[in-house]
Amino acid sequence: MEQAAPKSGNFIEQIIREDLESGRIKKVVTRFPPEPNGYLHIGHAKSICLNFGLAEKFGGDCNLRFDDTNPTKEEVEYVESIKKDVQWLGFKWNKLCFASDYFDQFYLWAIELIKAGKAYVDHQSPEEIRKTRGTLTEPGTESPWRNRTVEENLELFEKMKNGEFDEGECVLRAKIDMSHPNVNMRDPVMYRILKEPHHNTGDRWCIYPMYDFAHGYEDAIEGVTHSICTLEFQDHRPLYDWFIDNVSVPHRPRQYEFARLNLTYTVMSKRKLLELVTTKCVSGWDDPRMPTISGLRRRGYTPSSIRRFCEEIGVAKTNSMVDIELLHFCIREELNKTANRVMAVLKPLRVVIENYPEGRVEEIEALDNPESEAPTTRKIPFSRVLFIEQEDFMENPPKGYFRLSPGKEVRLKHAYLITCKSVVRDEEGRIVELRCEYDPATRGGDAPDGRKVKGTLHWVSASHAVEAEVRLYDHLFTLKNLDEVEEGKEYRDYLNPDSMVVLSGCKIEPGLSRVETGQRFQFLRHGYFCVDPDSRPGRPVFNRIVSLKDSWAKEQKKD
Ligand code: ATP
Ligand code: MG
Repeated sequence: MEQAAPKSGNFIEQIIREDLESGRIKKVVTRFPPEPNGYLHIGHAKSICLNFGLAEKFGGDCNLRFDDTNPTKEEVEYVESIKKDVQWLGFKWNKLCFASDYFDQFYLWAIELIKAGKAYVDHQSPEEIRKTRGTLTEPGTESPWRNRTVEENLELFEKMKNGEFDEGECVLRAKIDMSHPNVNMRDPVMYRILKEPHHNTGDRWCIYPMYDFAHGYEDAIEGVTHSICTLEFQDHRPLYDWFIDNVSVPHRPRQYEFARLNLTYTVMSKRKLLELVTTKCVSGWDDPRMPTISGLRRRGYTPSSIRRFCEEIGVAKTNSMVDIELLHFCIREELNKTANRVMAVLKPLRVVIENYPEGRVEEIEALDNPESEAPTTRKIPFSRVLFIEQEDFMENPPKGYFRLSPGKEVRLKHAYLITCKSVVRDEEGRIVELRCEYDPATRGGDAPDGRKVKGTLHWVSASHAVEAEVRLYDHLFTLKNLDEVEEGKEYRDYLNPDSMVVLSGCKIEPGLSRVETGQRFQFLRHGYFCVDPDSRPGRPVFNRIVSLKDSWAKEQKKD
């Protein structure tokens, strides 16, 4: 695992500071440019926090720009989800832009390049173009159509635009250098024919610009000063500059690259995430196991925990794999301070307190959150019949087991000490009920004679409890680094069959009968939970966000 970059003053901030001081720019302008072909994931959050964060820090602007130049994969549903996610993370864009709004301008610049003898219409098939590009060691081969006249190119390009050619019949290519050491510079394609309606421009166009041709122009039109993208685009930067340098742009943007985020135990490409959705490996883009922003939101993550995570990982120039435990750590730390503690019994076992009067109900005072600055309390009912966790009882316990077993005494959190007297079994011999006695002198949980009781259990009153469904999550994949799948296997072969465990018939405190989607709690001894939108009145559904176990902090101490 690589070391995270220093937290403050990443290299891009350094560059911006110098540009402002030298007067190269008056104001910083950035953009977050998603292609609306899927939902955003936590990797995008890194880019969002970086781009919007820089604009905030230096008093500049950040645009949300949809890089919607490929109509085959783009949809309005994605546009809407992306807007929602950016806002949810707490950022405000300066302008909402669509690359497709600039199609007319792109077309004019393409004509400018043709007129300057720097672009040509090529009739080679996509396959031929690929084959003649050469390799890293071999130069490419020039197209037989490379040296046609400007007039001919203008006429053919217009015909392309007018729909007089079929898809794949021809493309417009930049005329740069077929033996350039950088393969990206070997006459890259600028426009291709796609006879598909576009979510924004409808049927107006049947030629669509390629990313490398369009992206710098989008930045130029919007006055972007620092166009930040991931490292794979480093080798595309000369091309980015070439397109900018060879037409009359209103402004000259510059491209900078940073390392993309990779997380353990998950995939992070929209193509793969879409595949998980369409093949029903998950319930949707917002499945709480997905690394999407919408999945994390549904799981119970807060915007501030995701922003904190992005700050912790920093911005560096080498790709690395970030431990998903760091993300867990960020939400756990936050919820420790903000989430109320409640009692929830996930796998209930009936307990009857034989010496407790029938029909009696005591209201027991319980602290909502001992970590909050001004702790509040609530009342929870205690009665003769309770539920405790099945795991908190063992008939024949090993040494060192401090929970309940025959003859042993434990503390019921906030309430009394109880001792197990006997067990009740069903016809198959399974223990279905414990018979216990309580010590009336121990209300609040302490014995007046000072006798030591180590185990403290959570509980709920049986007749008052609310029934709930609880969903426990684990990693979506069993492989730590999904870039290292075995030969002959693919990422989907590593799906974790136990990534979701659904428990129904859980018993929770009566105060939780009316909860709202998105509300978060700490279930004592179980972890942090969030109310799922599948909840119905009187029948809440909870997602476990994270357990209480903090393996991240432990790891850090070891180093
Ligand atoms: P994917 O490979 O998941 O489909 P993408 O790069 O094609 O992602 P875009 O919609 O083009 O997705 O991304 C929008 C912005 O988010 C780009 O600037 C891109 O660099 C950035 N981005 C995407 N994935 C990551 C990541 N894992 N870490 C950091 N930034 C990312
Ligand atoms: Mg992309």
